[in-house]
Amino acid sequence: MTVAHAPSRLTTCRGECRAAARYPEHHDLLLSVDTDIDALLALIELAVTWHELDYSDCPVVGPADWAGFAAAHGWTFPERAERAFSLALDIVGRRLVGPPPEPAGPGLATVIDLVRG
Ligand SMILES: [Zn+2]
Repeated sequence: MTVAHAPSRLTTCRGECRAAARYPEHHDLLLSVDTDIDALLALIELAVTWHELDYSDCPVVGPADWAGFAAAHGWTFPERAERAFSLALDIVGRRLVGPPPEPAGPGLATVIDLVRG
């Protein structure tokens, strides 16, 4: 069985991905979200403020590219990286759809009672 273990993230993309071409600094910062708490916090901060601040002029990789970014790169701690980007995306997504809706109408048990009654 051959398993391609990437010994370090330096070998994973070589700056050839779209994010590296457009936003090399942020690209490299994002590459360390699984090993560097500051990078992780920066990602979460970006997610939390994504809808509050105007990032259109900032050289940052936006939420639309996070899932692809996570998938396209090798990680020292893949599960941690996946959690970091998932969490960040979840944070951004919550602001798009608003808070979770209140349960509407009668519960399922009540509906079943109504149907039976
Ligand atoms: Zn890359």
